[in-house]
Amino acid sequence: MSSAYELDRKHVFHSWSAQAEITPMVITAARGSYVWDADDRRYLDFSSQLVFTNIGHQHPRVVAAIKEQADRLCTIAPQHANEQRSQAAALIAGLAPDGFEKVFFTNGGADANEHAVRMARLHTGRFKVLTAYRSYHGGTQTAINLTGDPRRWPNDTATAGAVHFFGPFLYRSEFHATTPEEECERALHHLARTIEAEGPDTIAAILLETIPGTAGIFEPPPGYLAGVRELCDRHGIVLILDEVMAGFGRAGTWLALDRYGVTPDLITFAKGVNSGYVPLGGVIISDPIADTFAHRPYPGGLTYSGHPLATAAAVATIHTMRDEGIVENAERLGREVFGPGLAELAQRHPCVGDVRGVGAFWAIDLVADRTTRAMLEPTALGEVVAGCKAAGMLPFSNTNRIHLVPPCTMSEEEAREGLAILDDALKAGDVHARA
Ligand code: PLP
Repeated sequence: MSSAYELDRKHVFHSWSAQAEITPMVITAARGSYVWDADDRRYLDFSSQLVFTNIGHQHPRVVAAIKEQADRLCTIAPQHANEQRSQAAALIAGLAPDGFEKVFFTNGGADANEHAVRMARLHTGRFKVLTAYRSYHGGTQTAINLTGDPRRWPNDTATAGAVHFFGPFLYRSEFHATTPEEECERALHHLARTIEAEGPDTIAAILLETIPGTAGIFEPPPGYLAGVRELCDRHGIVLILDEVMAGFGRAGTWLALDRYGVTPDLITFAKGVNSGYVPLGGVIISDPIADTFAHRPYPGGLTYSGHPLATAAAVATIHTMRDEGIVENAERLGREVFGPGLAELAQRHPCVGDVRGVGAFWAIDLVADRTTRAMLEPTALGEVVAGCKAAGMLPFSNTNRIHLVPPCTMSEEEAREGLAILDDALKAGDVHARA
């Protein structure tokens, strides 16, 4: 019989890849913070796969809830009401700020953003959407056009109504800023000018990741999101916060937006809502936008909207995260282990230019030169990643960065073990960096 690997190489077409140039790792088992490969090697999962297993792998309560739901009712069409969907919607709406009662369920994050934008366009009667260059919002047609990162380019026909601008990111400032205050003020000025130059009456929404994730995990400086909110209010623009990666405990709070005291008009989610045990995403809708569709049909839907297996997993996930203090654990890991631990690594390794993050959401910006901040070459980054894997740790990497994004359930010991492995692996990066 052919192996999983052989069949994969013959028949599976992978995301974002030149198909003949990849060597996917075969994962055969997972539990808690660990995954096992086909040779039975164990890895500490610092990637949470694609930053989604916030509750860890194979959490018994979530697995049991899916099994129980499968026995009771595997599936039902979206036009009917269903216990698990109703419970999940109530729990998720309860995590949002006051004034959000309704949830529209999708299959993942990209379609959540597609629908949020569709709602904003119909609500405002406008078409354009402003998003950041340093962003990822999903792989479907509108979502990839809204995305800033270069994966947009081959998909971009410049007809999707997406207009990009630079958000704040002090370490790699586009605004020659040297303090968070300067970065905030200048980034808001740039956004205000972009709105003016595009025509405020043409803009339906501003879509932002509350904390940009794939683009490098950088918190907005104090006051930035409040400033964006103010610009939206001034011009009748809908503010959509994408919480697909940053939400559900990742940032050490239930939603990342809890950290900034800002209330958007729409919130998109996926990933951590049920740790991807069954695909699920959605839009949390503020009351005025929900009212737009009270007597006017919403022109959009999905066969599997609010799928019972996925929503049963969400209900169990949210209860378990609450009961087991998992969000608090992520917050503590960030404050007590990753924050101080990574600051210490940054001092000792010339290839570490910057470390930043919160909760279980950290980036290490690797550089060839700390003064110029020139990024470490991909081959050198590859050596660091290979070193981590060889020592039994699976990081997430992108461009010149390592992201430490473990399950929010990770223990302090596991977190420290991962940092020790990274410490050793960074020596391969130091060789390529100016001391
Ligand atoms: N938005 C953000 C912030 C993401 O990080 C992602 C995926 O990584 C998406 C949207 C797209 O989600 P999905 O891959 O579930 O469509």
